[in-house]
Amino acid sequence: MSNEQNIESVLILGAGPAGLSAALYAARGELNPLVLTGMQPGGQAALTFTIENYPGFPEGVGGTELGDLFQKQAERFGARVEFDSAVSVDFSAQPFRVKTYNGEILAKSIIIATGASSVHLNVPGETELTGRGVSYCATCDGWFFKDREVIVVGGGDSALEEAIFLTRYATKVTIVHRRDELRAGAILQNRARENAKIHFIWDSVVKEIRGEDKVTSVLVENVKTGEQSDVLTDGVFVFIGHTPNNEMYKGQLEFDERGYLRVDSHMQTSVEGVFACGEAADGDYKQVVISAGMGATAAIAATRYLEKLEG
Ligand SMILES: Cc1cc2nc3c(=O)[nH]c(=O)nc-3n(C[C@H](O)[C@H](O)[C@H](O)COP(=O)(O)OP(=O)(O)OC[C@H]3O[C@@H](n4cnc5c(N)ncnc54)[C@H](O)[C@@H]3O)c2cc1C
Repeated sequence: MSNEQNIESVLILGAGPAGLSAALYAARGELNPLVLTGMQPGGQAALTFTIENYPGFPEGVGGTELGDLFQKQAERFGARVEFDSAVSVDFSAQPFRVKTYNGEILAKSIIIATGASSVHLNVPGETELTGRGVSYCATCDGWFFKDREVIVVGGGDSALEEAIFLTRYATKVTIVHRRDELRAGAILQNRARENAKIHFIWDSVVKEIRGEDKVTSVLVENVKTGEQSDVLTDGVFVFIGHTPNNEMYKGQLEFDERGYLRVDSHMQTSVEGVFACGEAADGDYKQVVISAGMGATAAIAATRYLEKLEG
């Protein structure tokens, strides 16, 4: 009996829009790709209730539903999707090696699509009260705040989208934003401003989240006057940005100054045969459609790389 370990042609790390689009293209290239989902199948897109700006869905599409559709389409052509996470990588020689919770996988090419995670406020009370009123996902937790009051921290697209979504449940949604204007797009800004349930606290930051076994208030500080106030609330939803999940690649791949993986126009990283796509390598655009496009590019480039490698 041979004890030679199987070598995958393409191993895709991550099952968000980038990873699953890469899987679709690699599968249609007959590379039989293996996809590791990590802890969040569907990726960040699955955290939002509706996506209204992914082409092909004129009425919008549910975030979880879109992830399921991406996965089904990739599986139809032979992609294998496994619920497992990469814990360390070795890109120093062919075949590349990836340790996972379930073992070790060898692969001739790797597509990194491990995306990004929510930035935390890092204030007292946040960690202790996470799951007890502090949340980073309105779709997951909004329902718990039916007929209650919540605070949303942030001023970008995600913050406004989620604040509007939360008005389905909450009686009052107060957006705390550190500036006096929003970063979000015009359509969202208008929708939020016109929503009678949404209120704003401008030029302010959350300094502390308070409560014994559940959130009861937040300490808010005005950044211009220094004035502090205790604002009563039942929940705090934090949408202040994302940080790429790139720790694992330190010392193996090149990064840009903001911590994103450096790639060329073919999504090739600093190691030939290792590609990166989506929010792991995109600090600027952070959209489903863009991550999906980067994923497709990475898979086509991986196909060409393998043709060259295998002669
Ligand atoms: C609340 C919210 C609302 C949004 N709304 C919109 C919107 O309306 N329209 C829009 O275009 N975009 C929206 N976005 C942004 C969009 O979701 C992201 O740009 C997109 O999901 C990024 O795709 P990705 O595949 O690069 O990464 P992600 O979606 O972050 O997926 C990363 C994947 O990698 C996996 N992973 C992580 N670590 C590991 C590991 N060690 N091993 C294996 N797998 C791992 C994760 O489990 C996940 O499957 C929203 C984001 C949020 C948070």
